[in-house]
Amino acid sequence: MNWKDNIIKQLGKLNPRFLASVEKGLKAIPGVSQKIDSEYDEIMVGLESSSKPYKNKFTTFTQIPETGRKRADVLHEMESMRDQEESQWKNGFVSGAVYHGDQEHIDFLNQVYAINSQSNPLHADVWPSATKFEAEIVAMTADMLGGAGQDVCGTLSSGGTESILLAMKTYRDWAREKKGITKPEMVVPVTAHAAFDKASEYFNIKMIHIPVGETFRADAESVRKAITQNTVVIVGSAPSFPHGAIDPIAELSELARQNNIGFHTDGCLGGFVLPWAEKLGYKVPQFDFRLPGVTSMSADTHKYGYAAKGTSVVLYRGQELRHFQYYTSTEWPGGLYFSPTFAGSRPGALSAACWAALTSIGAEGYLSATRKILETAAAIKKGIREIPELRVLGDPLFVIAFASDSLDIYKVLDFMAHKKWSLNGLHKPSCVHICVTLRHAQPGVAERFIADLREAVEHVKAHPEEKGTMAPVYGMAATLPLRGMVSDLLKKYLDVIYKV
Ligand SMILES: *Cc1c(COP(=O)(O)O)cnc(C)c1O
Repeated sequence: MNWKDNIIKQLGKLNPRFLASVEKGLKAIPGVSQKIDSEYDEIMVGLESSSKPYKNKFTTFTQIPETGRKRADVLHEMESMRDQEESQWKNGFVSGAVYHGDQEHIDFLNQVYAINSQSNPLHADVWPSATKFEAEIVAMTADMLGGAGQDVCGTLSSGGTESILLAMKTYRDWAREKKGITKPEMVVPVTAHAAFDKASEYFNIKMIHIPVGETFRADAESVRKAITQNTVVIVGSAPSFPHGAIDPIAELSELARQNNIGFHTDGCLGGFVLPWAEKLGYKVPQFDFRLPGVTSMSADTHKYGYAAKGTSVVLYRGQELRHFQYYTSTEWPGGLYFSPTFAGSRPGALSAACWAALTSIGAEGYLSATRKILETAAAIKKGIREIPELRVLGDPLFVIAFASDSLDIYKVLDFMAHKKWSLNGLHKPSCVHICVTLRHAQPGVAERFIADLREAVEHVKAHPEEKGTMAPVYGMAATLPLRGMVSDLLKKYLDVIYKV
């Protein structure tokens, strides 16, 4: 271990709050801030060149052009960018991201978009078609998730994050009105999606993080101990984004029910997989509205629902709860105003495409897609388990995280990137995951993944001296105890993204 790693390791043992204040103090020392900034700038120059490949290939616009460009030119330019980008995800080199991606399905969704491109559900009177599509998407999703014969309702949103933000805001407002809770708390496993942390920050709900056990499932006993008079909601994932683990939803939702607290199952990732997996005979623990303690769920139509990006469903047990999500304004000079979600105007064409995906694929289509994905995932899991240096985390169904006890897993990730793979680097613990989609179910893809992974492991073993390109960054980001600096770095990266 070099001296830097050693310092980082020692600092890691300190209290995070103490560290945060040390960090502030450090940055206040004259020169330190500038030094840090110049180090950052160096990293950012590298990131900038890799994230802006079109800089010298196409005209850059920083002003609206005086005369409009020819439509044909615009289309031609976009087609050429698409051609650059398409082969990686189409050929199954990307974890998650595009969940269906067959050309015929894409063409169909594009046709649907074209028919509905002017539609806006905010104007329900002008586009009753949008209203029909959205109501039916919610109904079909509720039915699929155990809501049949129960009072389960919901709304469409723009994505998983919005569904989660909406549900958390709903519980905050529900608890304030029904229980007089003014200092709300949410009990959330550390493996739950970052959108819950976002909700905590946006809506001033105190985050109580719960550890996960050996199998990467939330520890129910810790949840029980974390419940206070101020708890408004408990969260569980089915499954979690990092390790694809399904939390003990039956147990957790029962704790919530006994304490008259809300329980949200985050089915953003699994909502459109697990119901079909269960029907196919896979062992799926209970996670949906068939559990009486589950009071809300999120399920992403734009993931395994195979809709275009930009839609998700949030569901509630009972109309009363849903009312706490709605916004109404009765005094605005612009007239009586009301909207179900965060947005005002919304893309009705995306709702139409979502409805078209659900109804054109049908239960048979979802079953066969799920079968292909789970069989592919099983082959990938088996292949990873046969590599002695690697270890699959937990016992996942279709999001497979793996780590190594003998190698730097981020160097393995680096090598895979050179082989064109776009996998997810995770931390706490350091690991890599692949989220298996229909793209990986194409012939030969799983075999290619395992072969490349074997080569990566052999390469990293044979070349311990190589540092890798992203591996040091991941390593630093995972272990650096000064989290404020990591956060600053991420913000600077976002600035780079918006740089022309
Ligand atoms: C993807 C995902 C989300 C958030 O979804 P977005 O659509 O990216 O906003 C939430 N939870 C889980 C488990 C997810 O996988």
